[in-house]
Amino acid sequence: MSVTLDDIRAAAGRIRGHVIETPLIRDEALSERLGQPVWLKCEYRQTTGAFKLRGATNAILSLPPDALARGVVTASTGNHGRAVAHAARAIGVPATICLSRLVPDNKVQAIRDLGAEVRIIGASQDEAMVEVARAVASEGMTEIPPFDHEAVVAGQGTLGLEIAPVEAEAVLVPLSGGGLAAGVAVAIKALSPATRVIGLTMENGAAMAASLVAGHPVEVVETPSLADSLGGGIGFQNRVTFALCRALLDDVILLHEAEIAQAIRHLGRAGHIVEGAAAVGHAALLAGRFVPKGPTVTILSGANIDPALHARIMAGASEAA
Ligand SMILES: *Cc1c(COP(=O)(O)O)cnc(C)c1O
Repeated sequence: MSVTLDDIRAAAGRIRGHVIETPLIRDEALSERLGQPVWLKCEYRQTTGAFKLRGATNAILSLPPDALARGVVTASTGNHGRAVAHAARAIGVPATICLSRLVPDNKVQAIRDLGAEVRIIGASQDEAMVEVARAVASEGMTEIPPFDHEAVVAGQGTLGLEIAPVEAEAVLVPLSGGGLAAGVAVAIKALSPATRVIGLTMENGAAMAASLVAGHPVEVVETPSLADSLGGGIGFQNRVTFALCRALLDDVILLHEAEIAQAIRHLGRAGHIVEGAAAVGHAALLAGRFVPKGPTVTILSGANIDPALHARIMAGASEAA
């Protein structure tokens, strides 16, 4: 395996003090209703509002001093971009985030507020990625990829170390590029081998799910989803996460938008303000798409939902747009 339990343990030591160990709490109402204990890993309470801080911090702290001095770069607008900006500032390393002109001003400002240099390049994510490649080649920056990287996967896997003591029958993990699912699965399969690890994603544009079915990385057509953090491809040249997900995930379940909306509402009423990507495990449990056969852990992976969208969903909406 390209990432091992030892790598994850080393990551946990490296990132200690830079991330929080988030609460693991029992959902009493849902446990009662489903007849099995259901645990919520409240990772949406992580600094920067998502688990991505674990992987980004581990990847940056794994760099040699000369690379640190030249700085890090990425093209993400979402939770990964925030994580890289935050981790770099905390460690004292320059961070550059390349964004397209289409990224809304409030998102650009939020990244500047985290202390990163923002470069606005071109009219698409692809053009922003070209600028990342240029900064790597001509300025000696190091790219911190969002998922397909050993140190990123090992960092996300530290969540698995915190969940393994439950010795659950199943762990429900949100799945996009597969950095989270791969890291958690490596830790869980090593420490609690009887536990099943299930990937959860949205029906609309699930690239990893389609790739696992095809047996190789494929592209899918994306449509807007409440689980926007689960969008994007896995890369045709995927090195790390596809093989790990193929080897270690026991199943993948695709959720409809209405099921995700119902889960956001259910969690919101219980005081967990989470984004759609974080609610997919809950969605599977509530809709009967995953029937627990024993103790079950679901990872609430992130909090970064537009407050106006959250309010619309709480009032009954089921669509992203
Ligand atoms: C990135 C992200 C995911 C998916 O993680 P991958 O490693 O890309 O599979 C899930 N939830 C949230 C909140 C995210 O930001």
